[in-house]
Amino acid sequence: MASMLDSSVVILTGAGISAESGVRTFRDNDGLWEEHRIEDVATPYAWESNPELVWRFYQLRRKQLLEVEPNPAHFALTKLEEGVNKFTLITQNVDDLHERSGSSNVIHIHGRLRTLRCEFSGENEERMKGKDLVEDFLFCNCCEKVNRLRPDIVWFGEVPMHMEEIYESVENCDYFLVIGSSGHVYPAAGLVNVAKSNGAKTILINSDSPANAFAFDEIHLGKAGEILPDLVKSWLNE
Ligand code: NAD
Repeated sequence: MASMLDSSVVILTGAGISAESGVRTFRDNDGLWEEHRIEDVATPYAWESNPELVWRFYQLRRKQLLEVEPNPAHFALTKLEEGVNKFTLITQNVDDLHERSGSSNVIHIHGRLRTLRCEFSGENEERMKGKDLVEDFLFCNCCEKVNRLRPDIVWFGEVPMHMEEIYESVENCDYFLVIGSSGHVYPAAGLVNVAKSNGAKTILINSDSPANAFAFDEIHLGKAGEILPDLVKSWLNE
């Protein structure tokens, strides 16, 4: 098989890559995300039945972006991007740590915290100024008669974003790497099978063995921030 340098490499990251930056995952906390049941904060039903709770939850997650920094695992991926022939970074994360560590063209399959989405038009807008991080609901700039904004997040039961582009890159890659994902959330967790059945080498970096561990050719157990920088050096023959 060609070395990674001459190859097309696709990465899928999950909440685990941001754990060492201080952003909590949810599978590590008994299925709770920052003390909340997923059903209460990350479903369209939750937004319909208790929008105040859902709004406050995401405003806190959005504010937290101002307090956290990318960690060595994020920077290792920036270096890998510079060294290989073709690089695609897909993330399940809604934080902005990949962008802030210098990765380009990050594909956010589950949406982003930095943007908010008009409930009427579906347009999103970047809203990260101090006045955008308040507890009160916010309203859009896109409609003549303003409409309420919702988090620009793909909730459970909603359609993930950019799937056409994602399948195209996963089907055609030589290496498929998953970093910090529990392998429970589909369709993201199934992408490794798509890559493998198209002949890619599949590699996992995670702190414990995830639900879909059987689908990987190579597994590196440990904290991404501690082991990924050296792995990247070896892949780049440094
Ligand atoms: P998850 O929380 O289900 O699983 C995280 C995985 O990372 C676990 O298997 C855990 O063992 C592993 N892990 C924890 N610390 C690690 C470390 N330092 N190094 C390597 N691995 C580590 O995450 P998921 O599979 O991404 O699914 C979570 C869903 O929740 C996603 O849809 C995501 O949008 C959302 N979420 C996002 C964030 C974020 O943006 N940072 C945070 C929490 C949840």
